Amino acid sequence: MTGATSREADLATALAALQDRMAQAAHAAGRDPADIELLPITKFFPATDVAILWRLGCRAFGESREQEASAKIAEFNELTGAGKVRWDMIGNIQSNKAKAIAAWADTVHSLSTAKVAAALDRGAAAAIDEGRRTTPIRVFVQLSLDGDTSRGGVDVGDPTAVDALCGQVAEAGALELAGLMAIPPVGSDPDTAFAALAAEHQRVLRNFPAATELSAGMSSDLESAVRHGSTCVRVGTALMGQRPLTSP
Ligand SMILES: *Cc1c(COP(=O)(O)O)cnc(C)c1O
Repeated sequence: MTGATSREADLATALAALQDRMAQAAHAAGRDPADIELLPITKFFPATDVAILWRLGCRAFGESREQEASAKIAEFNELTGAGKVRWDMIGNIQSNKAKAIAAWADTVHSLSTAKVAAALDRGAAAAIDEGRRTTPIRVFVQLSLDGDTSRGGVDVGDPTAVDALCGQVAEAGALELAGLMAIPPVGSDPDTAFAALAAEHQRVLRNFPAATELSAGMSSDLESAVRHGSTCVRVGTALMGQRPLTSP
């Protein structure tokens, strides 16, 4: 076998195993597997891998860095004849990158600040005006579950701040509030972390009933996230293999 075809076989096997794992997690939680999206995270992996996953039926991908994503999307479009897919931004966002992100991101999972929200709204509004996009950016407000907001997220212990950012997104013309996202703090018990996220989600839903989605769960903790109501699990390693570099 050539390198390319063995990569194809590896990805097909990993994808099938992951889909099984997600179905089992859903059933164990008494949920319909169709209510939980699998978002493959392709950061640090080449466009050729994304094209393979697209041929295997995947139609949405998550990326964590603007420059890597823009280059990969251009290459993916060449490889597939502009295969129709959704690209999601899952990484920390600097406001000076918001305009570029608004050009390709259907959905942003990692909004933490008012400044970035305003920049994304401006970027998306301009892209819509210029015919480069047709929809608002779907936005998940990221929460910090341990209050260490330097790693991204609004402090879950500050509901006023959470509501302020959710309100800003809900009112922005070119943004649409999808829900909440969080990553369990390093070394924490995922069940405890996702229970806190789910509780805050229930509170937020009272003020923002449209914010029905929960972006939660990665390779190591997706079962726990599904138990606590995740509607989108972001999976890299369990699908793609070990990343060549540590993620930022
Ligand atoms: C890298 C990354 C993931 C995927 O993590 P894995 O453990 O490789 O599945 C999910 N979410 C975010 C925000 C990430 O940066």
